[in-house]
Amino acid sequence: MYQNSLEYAQKCDAQDPLGKFRESFLFPKDPMGNPLIYFCGNSLGLQPKKTSEYLQQELKDWAELGVEGHTDAQHPWMPYHEFLTRAMAQIVGAKNNEVVIMNGLTANLHLMMVSFYQPTASRYKILIEKDAFPSDKYAVESQLKFHGYDPEEGLLFWEPQKGQELCHFEDLEKMLEVEGESIALILLGNTNYYTGQYYPIKKITVLGHQYGCKVGFDLAHGVGNILPNLHENGPDFAVWCTYKYLNSGPGSLGGIFVHERHAHNAKLKRFAGWWGHNKQTRFNMRHEFEVIPGAEGWQLSNPPILSMAAIRASLDLFEAAGMENLRKKSIQLTGFLEFLLDELNDERITVITPKNPEERGCQLSIQVKNTNKGLHQKLSQVGVISDWREPDVIRVAPTPLYNTFEEVYEFVSRLKSILNS
Ligand SMILES: *Cc1c(COP(=O)(O)O)cnc(C)c1O
Repeated sequence: MYQNSLEYAQKCDAQDPLGKFRESFLFPKDPMGNPLIYFCGNSLGLQPKKTSEYLQQELKDWAELGVEGHTDAQHPWMPYHEFLTRAMAQIVGAKNNEVVIMNGLTANLHLMMVSFYQPTASRYKILIEKDAFPSDKYAVESQLKFHGYDPEEGLLFWEPQKGQELCHFEDLEKMLEVEGESIALILLGNTNYYTGQYYPIKKITVLGHQYGCKVGFDLAHGVGNILPNLHENGPDFAVWCTYKYLNSGPGSLGGIFVHERHAHNAKLKRFAGWWGHNKQTRFNMRHEFEVIPGAEGWQLSNPPILSMAAIRASLDLFEAAGMENLRKKSIQLTGFLEFLLDELNDERITVITPKNPEERGCQLSIQVKNTNKGLHQKLSQVGVISDWREPDVIRVAPTPLYNTFEEVYEFVSRLKSILNS
């Protein structure tokens, strides 16, 4: 099906209905002014050309209206987060009342654990994947300590079998058989930032719920990449950031999903703030806290509008492209990358990401035997922006919104020359 030639890659680009979206982004360039091959959308997405326009509008409204902008800006600041809801909900497959954009990712993870990690004497453990992202691990460890538990004992790891890189669902089942009744929360990064493995959300959620555990996902590497279908798949909560695949700018806000089944549970413990209070009476300033039903009820502060404007600029592109179309292209684009890597026929190279497209997003994690960081530097010198993980893995993430088949072809041919030099 795929062919190993530049002409083939160019033909795929010419036929790609999403190809035009590349034009909507700004690309870092080499000193000669040629765009670099940017495969780091899993770390920091590129800037949409429209972002500065969206920001300028808010700066203008602020300059001309001052505080009145809260109600009179072109996009009034008071309900600003609501302008992001529909597109965000579509991207993660949720109902509108199940998502809200707020805070940073790790802060959101803590807020979700305040509500969904409720340890008891017999059920207090947290299960994460062995190679969880460091921030997530620090967050769960500190939650365990906060509740008086020793992470050494309270933290369980779903890990790959000896000598392997990927986690198997069957091993999770076995762990739950033994430990299920003692686990309060299962929290998994999805997709895994290191291996690119996409864990089956529904199967894991059903399994966890069967044993009475709460189930949450960190979609930092999943949002805008895979189709998590959160409402249907049913986890209790999810968190994510918007600066990776969602292209909203460095350090931009995160998002949360809280499943509708928890929307009206006012008894659920939470840390509250005025932005989670009933919108009608928020400014009376005197009322007892009256929580907004659904995800909005977890908001704390009035949000940074400039950051939200950048998110709007990006989400407008996602809405225009359609997440299902993006996923479809992504499977082809990453499949092409895998095909070309296979064609290299170089026994030093192993792709540790799963082969099955249903078990991965756009990223491939390429292990290169007997290499060091010098390989990554050489790639940079030939105009490829990728990501290096010690000891020997290059992570490359061709994103369907702005990368091309030709770039994938070029990347592999540059990698080949480096390996053969
Ligand atoms: C990127 C990423 C983070 C980053 O957390 P911030 O709070 O946004 O700094 C956390 N967890 C995972 C899994 C990530 O991929």
